[in-house]
Amino acid sequence: MSCPRPTFGQRLARLSPFGIGHTKPKHFRDMLKVVWSNRDNLPYAWKILTRGVCDGCALGVAGLHDWTIKGTHLCMTRLNLLRLNTMPAMAPDALADVASLPRDNRDLRALGRLAYPLRRRKGEPGFTRISWDDALASIGQKIRATTPDRLAFFVTSRGVTNEIYYLAQKAARYLGTNHVDNAARLCHSPSTAAMKQTLGISASTCGYSDWFGTDVIVFFGSNPANDQPVSTKYLHLAKKRGTKIIIVNPYLEPGMQRYWVPSNLDSALFGSDLCDDWYAVSQGGDIAFLYGVIKHLDAAGLTDTTFLAEHTTGWEDIVTRARTLDWPLLEQAAGLPAGRMIAFAELIGHAKTGVFVWSMGITQHPWGADGVRMVLNTALARGFIGRDQCGVMPIRGHSSVQGGAEMGAYATAFPGGLAVNETNAANLTAHYGFEIPAWEGLAATEMVEACHRGELDVFHMVGGNFLRTLPDPDYVAEALQRVPLRIHQDIIVTDQMLLDPSDEVILLPAQTRYEQDDGGTETSTERRVMFTPEIPREVGETRAEWKILRDIALAAKPDPAGVFGCTTGQAVREEIARVVPFYDGVQHLRKTGDAFQYGGPHLCPGGVCPTSDGKAHLATIDLPPVGGRPDHVFHVSTRRGKQFNTLIYAEIDPLNNAPRDAVLMNADDAAKRHLKQGDTVTLHNPLGRYNARVHLAPIAPGNLQIHWPEGNHLIDRTRKDAGGGVPDYNALVELETA
Ligand code: SF4
Repeated sequence: MSCPRPTFGQRLARLSPFGIGHTKPKHFRDMLKVVWSNRDNLPYAWKILTRGVCDGCALGVAGLHDWTIKGTHLCMTRLNLLRLNTMPAMAPDALADVASLPRDNRDLRALGRLAYPLRRRKGEPGFTRISWDDALASIGQKIRATTPDRLAFFVTSRGVTNEIYYLAQKAARYLGTNHVDNAARLCHSPSTAAMKQTLGISASTCGYSDWFGTDVIVFFGSNPANDQPVSTKYLHLAKKRGTKIIIVNPYLEPGMQRYWVPSNLDSALFGSDLCDDWYAVSQGGDIAFLYGVIKHLDAAGLTDTTFLAEHTTGWEDIVTRARTLDWPLLEQAAGLPAGRMIAFAELIGHAKTGVFVWSMGITQHPWGADGVRMVLNTALARGFIGRDQCGVMPIRGHSSVQGGAEMGAYATAFPGGLAVNETNAANLTAHYGFEIPAWEGLAATEMVEACHRGELDVFHMVGGNFLRTLPDPDYVAEALQRVPLRIHQDIIVTDQMLLDPSDEVILLPAQTRYEQDDGGTETSTERRVMFTPEIPREVGETRAEWKILRDIALAAKPDPAGVFGCTTGQAVREEIARVVPFYDGVQHLRKTGDAFQYGGPHLCPGGVCPTSDGKAHLATIDLPPVGGRPDHVFHVSTRRGKQFNTLIYAEIDPLNNAPRDAVLMNADDAAKRHLKQGDTVTLHNPLGRYNARVHLAPIAPGNLQIHWPEGNHLIDRTRKDAGGGVPDYNALVELETA
């Protein structure tokens, strides 16, 4: 469905300064709320905004300026996170009686910063303050008493810096385990796997500046208006230079349809009509859709045959497979008529340049890595890689996840993203001076399953909240309550910390990225490694997160010879530069604005990939099972609203006016069931029931969307992508009307 572009007259008639009267974020009102909520510490808030690298998404900004466009770079996601950095310490006895505490994470957050080490033993009503020495001694003793295969570390993406990821993996491996994983496992691990196998790299091949003036940007299963808000400003400017913006998604996200960029006068007055065309693919239908596209690219002679011949292998097999798939099958699987797949193929087939962006609508499926491979196959069919205004881009919603696997905080990768095997373990052993295990560790979801089976004795979680982020919360709660020692290292309290101890739960108070000694670095979606300086602030007895991990490693296994190293933040960066060669330069970053884009503007320059033969290895993908769907059964997907990860900021999503209990539904589907806006329905499947209110939306027929994490009760925790381990955050449900 084309998103109609207005004429000048229509545009004038649509004059609506700052979107007054429309469903959209109320930026200025919300800014005032932020000022009010930070009123006890405004000077510090200002220092963060003007000196720090944003701890929100992975678009990348230092202070108030980025590396892509002139002008101020700021959004509400960043402003809403400010309070985490300015709030005062929680009272040391605030968690003394767990039963009396709220379970809503918004209320727990309001208790203030976790400021002192706390311990709760089995049978105790709550947490008691202990010293750092006691905490470390207790943890060290428990780690020594177990074996490395029963010890695991998980690191969230919440404001975590590269230094913290690096120390997490080093501490884990120093203690003899590769059970170390990070939050990227739950979002882009299929991208990491598929890109590595196809291109030999696992990061965006291009930068944001390639968006400007490219013929076409395609967003697959992605909503940057919500996940990377300032990207709408980039898109507004790209459109001014003639770029077409295409959405392939079950839902036409309103923020991608029309957005008011407050810092751009033209956009602020008239709104920016971003989307040029919307392809309403059914949930999970992307592989079929792209097979249809490839089928037509081949039939119409629209592939870049020279590029394919010189720079790829495997294309003939893909085309052979595409030719065997008939249109009715592809239409059923994609949920779109053949004409739409042909239209998309014609559009990209005549584009000279293109950037393909994808997100969790592609990755969070049992065939997530295959979905990414098909995006890559299609981009490479047109030679959209390794040159200006071209590239493939897994967009990251959280500030630091790009660096997680690159620093080696990954069960299946050593620093540099190197595979876990004997050769790479031996090389890392030579770097570190201690033995590195060569076996692959447990991925994040596998860690929780191991907890449930009673196979972990010590589970150290740096941030995160598995109770909310993973499917099947009851199972997760059971699992976490079976670990003899649970360690939660964090800046605030979350409800998973309040789960009963099996033996002991220890809470370790962490500094924010801004407070940590010697500053830190973060890597953005476009591979830009950015320095955020130390902005000193003391909150109770909090410590830098990388230091805590180091302290634990040495408490468990004393290091009289000093082989562990990494005594300062700067020393950590110097070591990263030695161990991860493409991060060379990180050791020279010193102040706000210092940054470099590793690999240069384009990876795979000229189409030459860092694979064994320099070519992209295209993979022929099997079509996911295509089954009939009875009329009363729907595909339901989980989506984000006004929230940052599990931190929910508003009951109503300002981009589409949907309350947290909304179920987004196509108007025809609703009419068939005599449902109207606001009607109560129940979604159910063998895993659970979910009461929701109908919210009519431009969404593909047969598809529904509900908010995450509320809808996690309907999600099957056993359905995961084979390539990366990400859960399938979608389900089939029946719909019951009241
Ligand atoms: S768009 Fe992302 S990087 Fe930029 S200010 Fe917002 S949250 Fe921060």
